[in-house]
Amino acid sequence: MQAQKKGVLFVVSGPSGVGKGTINKKLFEEFGDRIAYSVSATTREPREGEENGREYFFISRQEFEKRVANNEFLEHAEYAGNCYGTPRDHVLSLLQRGISVILEIDVQGALQVKARMPESVSVFILPPSFEELEHRLRGRGTETPEKIERRLAAARSEIDMAPAYDYQIVNDDLDAAYARLRGIFIEKTEMANG
Ligand code: ADP
Ligand code: 5GP
Repeated sequence: MQAQKKGVLFVVSGPSGVGKGTINKKLFEEFGDRIAYSVSATTREPREGEENGREYFFISRQEFEKRVANNEFLEHAEYAGNCYGTPRDHVLSLLQRGISVILEIDVQGALQVKARMPESVSVFILPPSFEELEHRLRGRGTETPEKIERRLAAARSEIDMAPAYDYQIVNDDLDAAYARLRGIFIEKTEMANG
């Protein structure tokens, strides 16, 4: 009888605009049958093109606080004035079914996950420079200038936390950055399954 496969929990962080979504998308394109993206709940407004239940579950602050009180989140944090949380049951059930899960979450949340699930694998995506980060964030065109400033202000202290992660990847050349994440994914999922 074949042993039940084990899913691995990956936590990916990095400052807003560094390219987390872009790199993770490549991982899903290649390994979509073996990994799932955990859809977080957030109190922030949807961006144009975002759909409820796809990028996030967009909920009110009141609903968010109710879920915190009910202990429904594996971790949760406030980032740039909005609340974000990872639904616990969904993530645990995927892992039990042998599906690896990617959490694209902020530094505070990543530390909570590492403390609760030390076997998880944490990866921090770094920009090649602060100027390039600013350029990407502005180029994406999804935030107002004021919100961009807020995210850039958060970026410096986030980057200071990079050494606390198991792996650090500089997203300079996209293909090279993806090749590193891909290598980590393959190594860790193979290791978990002997
Ligand atoms: P995040 O999910 O970390 O907020 P995104 O994946 O949305 O960041 O990327 C922010 C912007 O930077 C996007 O416009 C994306 O196309 C661009 N980008 C991502 N990776 C690179 C790269 N290696 N070189 C140049 N631009 C990139
Ligand atoms: P954005 O508003 O750009 O989608 O996300 C802002 C920040 O919140 C990013 O760093 C993103 O990774 C983080 N984030 C998204 N979902 C969660 C979550 O469930 N928990 C935590 N702690 N951070 C999250």
